[in-house]
Amino acid sequence: MLSVFDIYKIGIGPSSSHTVGPMLIAKRFLDDLAASHDISRINRVTVDLYGSLAFTGRGHGTDRAILLGLMGYMPQEAGAATVEAGLGRLADSGKLALHGGVLIEFDPAEHIRFRIEDEPLAHPNGMRLSAYDTDGNEIWAQTYFSLGGGFICREHELGQAATTPRLTRAAIPYPFASATELLSKANGAGITIADLVLANEDAFRSRKSTRYQLDEIWRVMNLSIDRGLGAEGTLPGGLNVQRRAGELHQRIQETGEGANQREAVFDWLNVYAMAVNEENATGGLVVTAPTNGAAGIIPAIIRFYCMDEGAGGDAIHRFLLTAGAIAMLYKANASISGAEMGCQGEVGVACSMAAAGLVAAWGGTNEMAEHAAEIGMEHNLGLTCDPVGGLVQIPCIERNAVGAVKAVNAARLAMRSTGPHRVSLDQVIATMRQTGLDMNSRYKETSQGGLAVNVVEC
Ligand code: SF4
Repeated sequence: MLSVFDIYKIGIGPSSSHTVGPMLIAKRFLDDLAASHDISRINRVTVDLYGSLAFTGRGHGTDRAILLGLMGYMPQEAGAATVEAGLGRLADSGKLALHGGVLIEFDPAEHIRFRIEDEPLAHPNGMRLSAYDTDGNEIWAQTYFSLGGGFICREHELGQAATTPRLTRAAIPYPFASATELLSKANGAGITIADLVLANEDAFRSRKSTRYQLDEIWRVMNLSIDRGLGAEGTLPGGLNVQRRAGELHQRIQETGEGANQREAVFDWLNVYAMAVNEENATGGLVVTAPTNGAAGIIPAIIRFYCMDEGAGGDAIHRFLLTAGAIAMLYKANASISGAEMGCQGEVGVACSMAAAGLVAAWGGTNEMAEHAAEIGMEHNLGLTCDPVGGLVQIPCIERNAVGAVKAVNAARLAMRSTGPHRVSLDQVIATMRQTGLDMNSRYKETSQGGLAVNVVEC
């Protein structure tokens, strides 16, 4: 079983699969290398990117992320100042401090190769790293895959439960592999989905530590909203996309519309979601929920609906735990990678998670949460990933705003429904997986189709 903290990871933008994952891979490559070889003998490192990483890696900042990983940074440590200092040193000297120590010559343009002419490897996000000694002999080479949401694996681990689970099912009180099993175990024990997940998390760490980490996840989410609201100007990457969240926020405040006024609900959800995703687009620190590209939906809804006293003291924890359980189902039975499933695997999953989370925060039943998660995905089925210019900006930023509104609607629909519903969450997850597998690779984070080819870059 995964932990909720495998789902919610703090890291830099703009992409969990193309930024966070490659950074972790570069770091893991060096850790693996250092465990079996004398790293001081390394004179050269090369990185080859395949599939979606090759096609959209430049726009997604994959090369920057790899450099930081090779320097030994972890995604959650890579604050803006650290990143700029590290990259500045490389630009000035042409030398990279491997693992923070051994200096090697490194030219990103030469040593990081985007293999767009080559066939993708066994997974659409493939990455091969090689290390050479001073005589030019390759002494270590490994292939890794970035699976979305910051999950990574080595070549031989691909297909083994999607990633390396941290605990076996036997070690936790309520293992579940499907929504049916999740509901049956929660209802059998007479507890909520959130309490079931909390009990499972007890197998990983103390209850106090879990609550502390949930608070930390929310703190970083909330900060990413604040930073996005406080910023202005143009997003990086060359598309000249203007930041809108800050200006919209000012206008909403000036109108003095109360949060419960009809249209204002949309404004607030939109502005919070866009703030996070604009921050993500600039490479800022966000939380995967379940990915960076879809990082705005859950924070927007929590900020709007769970921050006042009326929501109850632990509404945010209930939200995150329930949404985390839903993400685990997608991770185990389909995928949360845009390169594998299209955007239904990112924004669609985030919408599904958020809908269930909001039901939990509102005190709905387990059945309502399952129903809300099902609705949240059902109306995102087939959603393509076609980022213009390979940047996580168009359609991604607005898509989070729309996804947040859709998730609230899904939660309302579920809580207003009476009687059983026809489509189950398990059925919709299976449908998403089949639809994702059937989708042409043009629509799966390659920027080879959809908006990416019909919107002219200027
Ligand atoms: S379109 Fe969706 S899946 Fe693709 S990069 Fe944007 S947010 Fe991610």
